[in-house]
Amino acid sequence: MIIVSACLCGINTRYDGKSNFNDKVSELLKQGKAVLVCPEQLGGLSTPRPAHEITGGTGAEVLEGCAKVVSANGDDGTCYFIKGAEETLEIAKQVDAKIAILKAKSPSCGCGNIYNGAFSKSLIEGNGVTAELLIRNGIKVYTEQEIDNILL
Ligand code: SF4
Repeated sequence: MIIVSACLCGINTRYDGKSNFNDKVSELLKQGKAVLVCPEQLGGLSTPRPAHEITGGTGAEVLEGCAKVVSANGDDGTCYFIKGAEETLEIAKQVDAKIAILKAKSPSCGCGNIYNGAFSKSLIEGNGVTAELLIRNGIKVYTEQEIDNILL
């Protein structure tokens, strides 16, 4: 079973109440190969919600307690992002997922590059909080941009 970001399958979980529909990821759901997660909803955030970015580091530093996830208004949402990552990991364990395909650049789901915390659309190297936790637990994480390279 593959863990996938719910917004990639057309579910309106995004911070602005919209989705990031991707037909190839959605096809995995239709084939019964995927389980949907939205870490930010699983962590207790509402939809729509303010956009958040990681400040002071990446998902790795958030998990280590030395960076925060803050909204554009400056509110600290770190606890929700950590909770969402933990809940996603629990789902991944329950379905014995070895692979996750998560939304690129997100402070939760991003893998390889994420927004830099300045709400300027600029990227830094690193992973979102959920992607980092899944990787630390042996799950291979890809973004939707890499789906053509994944042997499914
Ligand atoms: Fe999509 Fe992940 Fe953001 Fe949820 S947390 S809306 S699944 S990118």
